[in-house]
Amino acid sequence: MHPALAKTIADVDPEIAELIAKEERRQRDSIRLIASENYVSGAVLAATGSILTNKYSEGYPTKRYYEGQQYIDQIEQLCIERAKALFGADHANVQPYSGSPANLAVYFAFLKPGDTVMGLGLPAGGHLTHGWPVSITGSYFKAVQYGVRRDTHRIDMDEVRELALKERPKLIWCGGTAVPRTIEFAAYAEIAKEVGAILAADIAHISGLVAGGAHPSPVPFADVVSTTTHKTLRGPRGGMLMCKTAHQKAIDKAVFPGLQGGPHNHTTAGIAVALKEAATETFKQYAKQIVANAKALAATLVEHGFDLITGGTDNHLVLADLTSKNISGKIAAKALDAAGIELNYNSVPFDPRKPFDPSGIRLGTSSVASRGMKEAEMKQIGAWMAQVVAAPADTALHAKISGEVREFCAKFPAPGILL
Ligand SMILES: *Cc1c(COP(=O)(O)O)cnc(C)c1O
Repeated sequence: MHPALAKTIADVDPEIAELIAKEERRQRDSIRLIASENYVSGAVLAATGSILTNKYSEGYPTKRYYEGQQYIDQIEQLCIERAKALFGADHANVQPYSGSPANLAVYFAFLKPGDTVMGLGLPAGGHLTHGWPVSITGSYFKAVQYGVRRDTHRIDMDEVRELALKERPKLIWCGGTAVPRTIEFAAYAEIAKEVGAILAADIAHISGLVAGGAHPSPVPFADVVSTTTHKTLRGPRGGMLMCKTAHQKAIDKAVFPGLQGGPHNHTTAGIAVALKEAATETFKQYAKQIVANAKALAATLVEHGFDLITGGTDNHLVLADLTSKNISGKIAAKALDAAGIELNYNSVPFDPRKPFDPSGIRLGTSSVASRGMKEAEMKQIGAWMAQVVAAPADTALHAKISGEVREFCAKFPAPGILL
């Protein structure tokens, strides 16, 4: 954080100021491999910390319910135009508070309670909001879930088609939260067309890769594209929906007044800044480097005897099954955290263990790539991971590696962190 801003907080609330400073140091000193996280730029941080948080602006540019929108309208319009240009979309709604509300708006736009929705099951790498029972989407709608093949752990498009023909869903989701492979948008579009369903592509994880040309785009194929703005796209926490012109009205009405009140204008400005950054050549290189890093880290882990789901990765994400290492995902994740390597425990497809203590770990390379780490650094990270996973109770080893990690990280300044 900028020292002047840190002082402003400390003058009023030293407790919170100290905790923010500690978290900032933690983010600086650790290798952050949580696949859904990143480091935003100083410019994005500054926009989200601005006075725009003071303003109410229910409605859309030029059609608001409160006065004083001269500048807010321009900010939101700029954000919309940048999203449309970057992704080649007909329409963009930049108001969803986050990824989950964006997805809920898609349901509200196209479905009635009890209608059938089809999505990738959570245990296979799908997201809660794609119809999983504990989610409102699985409880207010009739959800049917497809999975991955037992032999390859990849999505079987024949199975998706068969299920769609049998269940006739009104809405089909593609994309997920733990999918290490390319999403076949064209194949989904064909199936959706055949059964007369709306196709929604959830690119929450991969939108930065799509923007940077490192993953195919769903925009030509999907009726609606949903994304978060804070994962590989490297913006503030938020959500966006993009759609074909025919669905513009339905989507906008579903977000406001259907689901939300006033948009978070400070977030909108932060998203606009992030979209401007994402339209640069530097960001294209960044997106390529994320994937190169993930492939390098996957290769290193395989050399160290890790079993990877699907054997590797096409994107930013690696999913490892630790069964052959005789350690649960949770114990591994906690030991790695003690060693300064932060990731999350995760279910693997057909996991015999419970979700709160599953067999796998999930990691992603968007944050380390934001710090300028490359393939050589991934080798080092993989070696540390192997050491920790082989000795999950060796706290002295974890402390030693944590010190090495801190020194290593000092060579790669993180965007937005001025400490
Ligand atoms: C992260 C994610 C979401 C939800 O985003 P939140 O901002 O956490 O609500 C939705 N869909 C997918 C595929 C995700 O990975």
